[in-house]
Amino acid sequence: MSYTRSIELFERAQQSIPGGVNSPVRAFKSVGGTPLFIKNAKGAYLYDEDGNQYIDYIASWGPMILGHAYEPVVKAIQEQAVFSTSYGAPTELEIKMAELIKGMVPNLDLIRMVSSGTEACMSAIRVARGYTGKNKIIKFEGCYHGHADSFLVKAGSGVATFNIQTVPGVTAGVTNDTLTCAYNDLQAVERLVAENKNEVAAIIIEPVAGNMGCILPEKGFIEGLRKLCDAENIVLIFDEVMNGFRLAPGGAQEKLGIAADLVTYGKVIGAGMPVGAFGGKRHIMEVVAPLGNVYQAGTLSGNPIAMIAGYTLLNVLNTNPSIYKELDEKTIYLRDGLNEVLKAWGKPYVINQLGSMISIHFSDKPVTDFASAAAANNDLFKKYFHAMLKRSVYLPPSAFESWFLNNALTKEDLDKTIQATKESLKEITE
Ligand code: PMP
Repeated sequence: MSYTRSIELFERAQQSIPGGVNSPVRAFKSVGGTPLFIKNAKGAYLYDEDGNQYIDYIASWGPMILGHAYEPVVKAIQEQAVFSTSYGAPTELEIKMAELIKGMVPNLDLIRMVSSGTEACMSAIRVARGYTGKNKIIKFEGCYHGHADSFLVKAGSGVATFNIQTVPGVTAGVTNDTLTCAYNDLQAVERLVAENKNEVAAIIIEPVAGNMGCILPEKGFIEGLRKLCDAENIVLIFDEVMNGFRLAPGGAQEKLGIAADLVTYGKVIGAGMPVGAFGGKRHIMEVVAPLGNVYQAGTLSGNPIAMIAGYTLLNVLNTNPSIYKELDEKTIYLRDGLNEVLKAWGKPYVINQLGSMISIHFSDKPVTDFASAAAANNDLFKKYFHAMLKRSVYLPPSAFESWFLNNALTKEDLDKTIQATKESLKEITE
């Protein structure tokens, strides 16, 4: 495979873009090598500037549930674009979007559109603080909620990938109000809440974590958080930027059968366009301006192109629940196939999977939190990543990221991925 164009473009990009990329994990810095510059994508495949084709397990970090350039979405965007790309005034489309989401997601009375997952999470904690009159928040080590100052404490995703302990530019004043706990450690959360009695406004969590690889909540953990939040007047925020509309039409709330007070969403709501949203119970969301004084705004919020793209995708998901069954079956098929080749390989590994989220950790212990994800052999993961890429399978370029399946993947693609894993494991441990 030739990467000539990608190498040239990366050189050029570094002259005018920090590190050559507009989001750090894309730089391949932690796995080494040159990032691939993508020219286009269709269905389950990415094509780079050198014309190489890859089976895509990133799916734009989640939203491409039905594959890239999904025709009804492309058509809807084209039809909308001729009516202007932005008005900065309300549209009926925004109401239709809110109504559709409310119909799919439990426990959602009011929802506000924003332009990214970061904005959604940042706004949700402001709402929780405004509603409760308290300042502190609890987040979990290895969970990522975007790059707003409050969340850059023991964060997952790129922050973990680059092993950034403290982020210069984020003041201690802000992060003092961010308390952290190990994911899946309910007792530690209970202790933290007791030590900060009447000071905790919100607990924010990725119910199924995707930013330290895929990590599942142990039985009773999220249920315990729910009880604790009820008892202590704490707002429970589910960050469903990855889980939403992916684990089930109603996301993690539906899949786990637990109600959040506020929920945040990201890119999936725009079918990959820059969108996010936060919403939840009416009595909490009523603090948001212009109803209340918790100010939050956005020129491009509810942007018509983003709305029509997302509305079209979500409508398909809503009217075809079999998609979730198909996605689950494909992921289980992949998981079982990977298990077989990894077992035969004979060295320690863990596969975590729920719905269409899955990840491999080269670990001899269960991976249940950030510490266990970080203790895995992530150097081996880097080698595995490159060996897979060479075999035309594009995995997330970090062990601290979940893989996302899309429904355009065929059995043949999954078989190729399993075979590529078999060959890659042999290559990297020879
Ligand atoms: N929350 C979670 C769970 C995420 O995975 C991400 C990004 N992948 C964000 C928030 C931030 O979203 P964005 O990158 O759109 O700001």
